[in-house]
Amino acid sequence: MQISEKDIQKLVEQVLANMTGESSANISNPASEIALGNGVFTTVEEAVNAAKMAESKMRSVSLESRRKMIQAMRDISIQHAEELAKMAVEETGLGRVEDKISKNLLAANKTPGVEDLVSTTYTGDDGMTLVEYAPFGIVGSITPSTNPAATLINNSISLVAAGNVVVYNPHPSAKKVSLQTLKLLNKAIVQAGGPENVLTAVASPNLETSNQVMNHPAIRVLVVTGGGIVVKAAMKTGKKVIAAGPGNPPVVVDETANLAKAGKDIVNGASFDNNVLCTAEKEVFVIDKVANTLKQEMIKNGAIELKGFELDKLLKVILVEKDGKFYPNRDFIGKDAEVLLAAIGKKVDSSVRLVIAETTFDHPLIWTEMLMPILPIVKVANVDTAIEMAVKAEKGNRHTAIMHSQNITNLTKMAREIQATIFVKNGPSYSGLGFGAEGFTTLTIAGPTGEGLTSARSFSRQRRCVLVDGFRIV
Ligand code: NAD
Repeated sequence: MQISEKDIQKLVEQVLANMTGESSANISNPASEIALGNGVFTTVEEAVNAAKMAESKMRSVSLESRRKMIQAMRDISIQHAEELAKMAVEETGLGRVEDKISKNLLAANKTPGVEDLVSTTYTGDDGMTLVEYAPFGIVGSITPSTNPAATLINNSISLVAAGNVVVYNPHPSAKKVSLQTLKLLNKAIVQAGGPENVLTAVASPNLETSNQVMNHPAIRVLVVTGGGIVVKAAMKTGKKVIAAGPGNPPVVVDETANLAKAGKDIVNGASFDNNVLCTAEKEVFVIDKVANTLKQEMIKNGAIELKGFELDKLLKVILVEKDGKFYPNRDFIGKDAEVLLAAIGKKVDSSVRLVIAETTFDHPLIWTEMLMPILPIVKVANVDTAIEMAVKAEKGNRHTAIMHSQNITNLTKMAREIQATIFVKNGPSYSGLGFGAEGFTTLTIAGPTGEGLTSARSFSRQRRCVLVDGFRIV
């Protein structure tokens, strides 16, 4: 085989880029057309090796330096929020640019940093004991296609604030935007005085590399954000897993609710980013006597109701049946309501953001995570039945639930029965992420493994340093 001078030059550049992790715009990986360097490598082994070097350097990075790194990560994410939102929609075909900008900004501004790690000190006659948060080390993070940049920003801030380094495996259909986000964050870390390759990934992530990351012996802990299949796959590794799985958030509306606000909030929450968020309203249980008013309020705020023949036609297009189970038609996941309706020849303008439909409790729309702007509504006789149905529809995910009510007893009953990680009262579902509401943000809500809302402290171990006998030296 003949190797030209140009080939040798390219090989040398690639090896150098892999060793230094430096960005090199003209070095590209032919398989993926994503430039290597700045945290992006050809193989998982190379990514892990770079992560090992970064981890050994991270050990001597002071908390103050970590604070500077986190601030720089926030700043660069804010600067590029729009660009990354556009890239995500273009690459994945999911969601809405304006909503993805909001999610990126939310992750950049409201993910807790180093301040999340509050140490505890115990002092007394026997000396002093300090319990502080220590990093896990090298963490593997598997990220979804639905919130690609926002999850990278959120996970990176949380994981790095806790002193970890990360080997990512982004969703293959969101690799360009995810890797671009990773590179920007790495650039910010280095500019703030941090080590190179704190965040790494392969240029062509796929299921095989996902499994390699999950099973690599140098990776101690896995953070997994995605559907049920990847959560199960991660658990099989036998490692510590912090898993954020699917949700099926129900909404209960009782007769005491402010129906004008409830209608508006439900449309806003369910249509945000075309319902791809795991936290978004997925089905409504409303008391019979206020159901029509609620639907009218939803229609005033950008919903359209489908019935009969039109609804049947749409369901044939968006639902796929296989072996007696229903799945969403992938072609319509994350698409605008306008696109769903165009598929059945119904023209509407872009002010229509959500399709609503009355269904029975056993309808597949209630039980299938559609991730598209269609919301089934079930009329019920009373609030107890509504809560009972909501608990069943949530499927024990312990993820997110929403209720619109002015009755404290009803709200308390729902909170107790549903046991969700996020329970939003009288607001759109995204309030539970801190959007337009109080509280911090996470894009990784770990229901299956019990951490719930994740932040820096979820990605840390408690370490005890004990100074003995300060008082009783003889
Ligand atoms: P997905 O499960 O298809 O992919 C998520 C990640 O897992 C990707 O990186 C993918 O490459 C990897 N993966 C998938 N199957 C795998 C396997 N068998 N082995 C190894 N790796 C595998 O999810 P998606 O479509 O990108 O995201 C949407 C899903 O994620 C929804 O179910 C949503 O509810 C859920 N989600 C949950 C949260 C949360 O915080 N709980 C947040 C976002 C998304």
